[in-house]
Amino acid sequence: MTRLIFLGPPGAGKGTQAQALADAEKIPHISTGDILRGAVSQQTELGRQAQSYMDKGELVPDQLILEMVRDRLGKNDVNSGWILDGFPRTVVQATFLDKLLQEMHQSCDWVINFDVPDEVLVQRLLGRGRKDDTETVIRHRLDVYRQQTAPLIDFYRQRNQLVSIDGDQPVDQLTTELQQVIQS
Ligand code: ADP
Repeated sequence: MTRLIFLGPPGAGKGTQAQALADAEKIPHISTGDILRGAVSQQTELGRQAQSYMDKGELVPDQLILEMVRDRLGKNDVNSGWILDGFPRTVVQATFLDKLLQEMHQSCDWVINFDVPDEVLVQRLLGRGRKDDTETVIRHRLDVYRQQTAPLIDFYRQRNQLVSIDGDQPVDQLTTELQQVIQS
């Protein structure tokens, strides 16, 4: 049973690694960014409310995210394990997740922190070319990460749940390193 949180700045490669590991372990890859982009493209109420924040590189308000995550973690497939990618992103979200997991009688094994230098991140994101991947929005997403999400590194380190890995290495090497972490 594998239950992981992937933490790290935008462009750190969390999504790529989460998908590879989730496929290998046959567990769901739960990306709040993917769920939100799906809601935007389907023009649901959530999508309509989230879109302007995403376009600006701001975080979508916690209240919307918490409801969305509660729904997602209420599905049966999470009984086989999970990888949370892009959530939690604020201390409020992390505290909510603690309570939710307690209610579910589950706990997270490790929080994997992807470490990547800023300039590498900017270059990667510019190369990706998603709608919110313009240089101004990217720089803003990095600021938001530093202010609102980076405090979670200490939050999880204090609970001895944090494992930091060097995200600035080839995709396959990183996958191998991650597999070693979860088997240890
Ligand atoms: P990246 O990691 O490149 O920023 P994501 O796909 O994880 O990309 O997120 C894209 C956008 O979706 C974020 O900039 C933010 O607006 C929104 N978002 C995703 N997850 C969350 C979250 N947990 N809390 C608030 N906003 C979120």
